[in-house]
Amino acid sequence: MRAIRLTSPGRPVELHDVPVPDVGPRDVLVRVKAAGICHSDAHYRAGRSPAYPLPLTLGHEVAGVVERVGGAVTLVRPGDRVALHYLIACADCWHCARGQEQFCRTGSMIGHFRDGGWAEYVAVPERNAVRLPDTVPFEHGAVLMCSSSTALHALRKGRLAGGETVAVFGVGGLGMSAVQLARALGALDVLAVDLDADKLRLAGEYGAIPVNPRDGDPVAAIRERTGGRGVDVALELIGLPLTMRQAVQALAVQGRAVVAGLADEPLALDTYRDLLGKEAELIGANDHLLQEMPLLLELARRGALDLRRVVARTVPLDAAAVNGALDELDRFGAPVRTVIVP
Ligand SMILES: [Zn+2]
Ligand SMILES: [Zn+2]
Repeated sequence: MRAIRLTSPGRPVELHDVPVPDVGPRDVLVRVKAAGICHSDAHYRAGRSPAYPLPLTLGHEVAGVVERVGGAVTLVRPGDRVALHYLIACADCWHCARGQEQFCRTGSMIGHFRDGGWAEYVAVPERNAVRLPDTVPFEHGAVLMCSSSTALHALRKGRLAGGETVAVFGVGGLGMSAVQLARALGALDVLAVDLDADKLRLAGEYGAIPVNPRDGDPVAAIRERTGGRGVDVALELIGLPLTMRQAVQALAVQGRAVVAGLADEPLALDTYRDLLGKEAELIGANDHLLQEMPLLLELARRGALDLRRVVARTVPLDAAAVNGALDELDRFGAPVRTVIVP
């Protein structure tokens, strides 16, 4: 089969001819219908974040149709439409047993530490193949498995309850899902903070109240919009100490700030005023869980999570096209999500 593989960091990915993967007794072979090109893939290609063993087929945002199943598989059958949860976990270790599979001792991510979905076929354990509703396109199913699911996990870490208010710092791919998911989970008001007027306009169409820091201090603007109270949950999806601090400062009494953006600088806080004085919480969010996928896919089926304006371009399984999309991501120039349709 054809597969797009990373052979050496810092070099373009290449189209190779490789064997169709073997299927163990509890595995399924999936014919790939859509595979997203993510910012993480640009980091793997550049070597900023290592992917191995090389050569490796990239692609961790995958949806397709079950082609073949192992002898012990009971959850899915050939012909089923599925989206793939990218983290392969053992289900039995200390962390897996406690519902913390992101920390599985033998956990391994497809397209990062084992062959992924930039190929005609990919094999995964059956529990990783989540049924994709008929009305959700494969392209959306693929993207749901990365940025949207991380946004849902971050909101769940923030323990968002119905009737609460939310601020989302950064409305890129993750934030645009977070705005819609917060509303679907019952948020009364969602405030979107971003410097980009076009992104704020789209977030506004998804029901968010736009806050542009170019117009003044975003913390003051959030307080003003919430009757001086602040928000119950703030998500930081940018990865800057400044916006992390703003997310904490924008909290109401007993509010929760969830950080999902990666920063390479330490965060300084006035711990009395910003944290203990109002019993605020600062929470890290890392990846997402298999158990969150059914709710996410159901919200997509109902249209509560709409990706039509997020996934706007498809490319074939072609090395030049994929390298072009990765180059764009490296330049921060990608306007929308690109999805490979083999
Ligand atoms: Zn991704
Ligand atoms: Zn485990």
